[in-house]
Amino acid sequence: MTLSSESLAARAPEVARHADASIDATLARLAEYLRFPAISCDPAHAGDVKRLAERVRDDLAALGFSASRLLELDGALPCVAAERIVSADRPTVLVYGHLDLQPVKGEDWSSPPHEMVRRGERLYARGSADDMGGWVSHLAALESWLAVAGDLPCNVRLLIEGEEEIGSPNLERFMDAYPEAFESDVMVLTDCENPSPEIPGLTVSLRGLVEIELTCESLGSDVHSGLWGNLVPDPAIAMMQLVSRLVDEDGRLALGRQEVPAAWREAAWDVPLGPEVVRRGARLLEGVAPLPDRGRPPAEWVWRQPALTVLSTTLPGPGSEKNAVRRRASCVLSMRVAPGQHHDELLALVERALHTDPPGGVKVTVTRRGTPGLSWLYTPKGEAFVAADRAYQRAWGRPLLSIGVGGTIPFVALFGRRYGDRPLILNGVMDPETGAHGPNESMHVGVFEKAIRANVHLYAELSQVPGLVQRGT
Ligand SMILES: [Zn+2]
Repeated sequence: MTLSSESLAARAPEVARHADASIDATLARLAEYLRFPAISCDPAHAGDVKRLAERVRDDLAALGFSASRLLELDGALPCVAAERIVSADRPTVLVYGHLDLQPVKGEDWSSPPHEMVRRGERLYARGSADDMGGWVSHLAALESWLAVAGDLPCNVRLLIEGEEEIGSPNLERFMDAYPEAFESDVMVLTDCENPSPEIPGLTVSLRGLVEIELTCESLGSDVHSGLWGNLVPDPAIAMMQLVSRLVDEDGRLALGRQEVPAAWREAAWDVPLGPEVVRRGARLLEGVAPLPDRGRPPAEWVWRQPALTVLSTTLPGPGSEKNAVRRRASCVLSMRVAPGQHHDELLALVERALHTDPPGGVKVTVTRRGTPGLSWLYTPKGEAFVAADRAYQRAWGRPLLSIGVGGTIPFVALFGRRYGDRPLILNGVMDPETGAHGPNESMHVGVFEKAIRANVHLYAELSQVPGLVQRGT
């Protein structure tokens, strides 16, 4: 017979103590998973992704999860799915994470990238924080619930993807082919960041991404710059003038700026992104300052406003100098699209600025490239988030701080589009020093321990939210 969810939830402090006491075993398990070079972008490592997935599947089965299995589709690396359904009248929490890794080739690591090494308060290994630590923090919490109470206070489904680091190209196909593996009342997507090791983050926005190619042409062929310079328009210079039209005096994209709520802006000044954090994080050279804030908090610039980057140009490189006006010049520009802004809207503004009265009347062509990454803007509301705050208060001593991500994460936009009707809790174990996707990626041990504790409390708190059960199981 199942215990009542109230009596189970009341045991959360005891379960959290057990999880604390088991930290060595948890770290040993994490170290074993991190030894698999599960690099999804390299076909030579497809076997490692699969072997790790099989290992996790077997571990989940041994832990008492049912339907522990690999989800497979042609041409895709597998997902691991497992569930523990306690009772149909309790909420079902889906935990999403990914087990695949970014490559390490050509990176300068201080210790072997696939061997977890502790230095000070940090654990170094590829994938330590992105994202093995994320979902292993759930595994540890679930293990402690089962060890102490013999059951979970709510139903839990786990879904561990094997292709996140290549942009989740098949995740929607998995959602279509295995809808039951995603069935849930609330989703915890654990592959995001905390603003510092002391402040837990709840990600609520992403910027989108679009690319264009800009080409300027004025001549039928390259011509002598001494004979024709000053008489004909130089496409290279016209191109640079056109690009500079798009930005303000600081070099920031001046088009498509978004209004943000005054209260949001006020709170965003507290996000730890001051000059010193920027200087260290972005490795600014001595004497170079971060861009001036112009009355907007740095968090607004990086999370909530669109931005422009020059990705490549056809300007002649070293070794191809000649005294000639070149017949054409082009460049590829990428734009980060503000959360809630549609990329077509931003592109229309940019295209109009580039086509209007081009310098010297050069011929301007703008072509869209690739598939745009969607932006995402979410408003967390309802009792599930109040419950999550209570859980984080217990484990971290403070509630979740709503944050954004300046980048584009395809799986998040996808979950937002498919499952935005239910609470989506986006958290994780990364912090500003993590260095995901680079050499010496690391996870803060204290963050990992607090994440485990927060998960223990999160299941208990969510189990007590009235009206959360919408779908049954
Ligand atoms: Zn990740």
